[in-house]
Amino acid sequence: MKRMDEQTVAREGHNGAGRDNVKLRIDNISKRYQNKTVVDRISLTLSTGVYGLLGANGAGKTTLMRMICGILRSSEGQITLAGQPVTSESYRSMLGYLPQDFGYYPDFTGREFLLYMAALKGLPKSRARHKSGELLELVGLAGQADKKIKTYSGGMKQRLGIAQALLNDPCLLVLDEPTAGLDPKERVRFRDLIARAGQGSIVLLSTHIVSDVEHIADSILMMREGRLIYQGKWEESRGDLEAFYLEQFGDGQQARAGKGTETGPERFVRKTADSMDAGEGKEGW
Ligand code: ADP
Repeated sequence: MKRMDEQTVAREGHNGAGRDNVKLRIDNISKRYQNKTVVDRISLTLSTGVYGLLGANGAGKTTLMRMICGILRSSEGQITLAGQPVTSESYRSMLGYLPQDFGYYPDFTGREFLLYMAALKGLPKSRARHKSGELLELVGLAGQADKKIKTYSGGMKQRLGIAQALLNDPCLLVLDEPTAGLDPKERVRFRDLIARAGQGSIVLLSTHIVSDVEHIADSILMMREGRLIYQGKWEESRGDLEAFYLEQFGDGQQARAGKGTETGPERFVRKTADSMDAGEGKEGW
């Protein structure tokens, strides 16, 4: 359970509704580059819960997430959280974001890094100290809090990334490929962490690993060629997400994305390095 604090109370004052009633509304969002449409008229309303965003490489997941985080302007449409527009300061204060290419400071310790991020987010010093300690516990880094980040494993860095995203007790937590590069043990640990961190928040995470969604998400969102092609509860996919995914994507998708040697669902939604286009970082975080 999330502890009620002054920030939470302040946020809930935005619309007078309880935290559990906060909604992310995405209304007819598109993103075009020159004449290429990469996100195409997506409308969605998300409430408390964990949403897994699945789609083949190039489907538009990162672009959608960046628009939701306000770091990329949409070509059309509106995004609001608890009624606040994505461009507003109050929206930003309710948001926690772990980008895919998160930059750490290798010579900082985990604790110093969190204190630094807390200062950037405008947390008062004493609150920052308290919150950093609490989050280091939550993500299982209390024992390594005073070691330099350069000594951390990939999984430890990702857990620190989640911790910084949670500093402001966000109503909306956006995680872009949070399990990428983690070994199986860390992946399981990370899933548990997301499940705990997500309580009482809207959590949107993208992944190319179908089993991540199977284990963490309450709801599945699927994108293909910029369009939202499916939104539903995990149970509605009858527990066999791989078959379900194939059913949705059909043979064409398989032929395009399935040239690798992997077996299992990963090959159909494999993320490759070329999905990160050179121009993408211009409107960076
Ligand atoms: P995903 O995260 O699902 O792999 P992306 O959102 O990264 O998909 O990309 C969706 C599509 O948008 C891709 O075809 C990609 O090449 C294109 N794209 C992304 N950023 C830019 C950009 N700055 N200019 C032109 N095309 C882009």
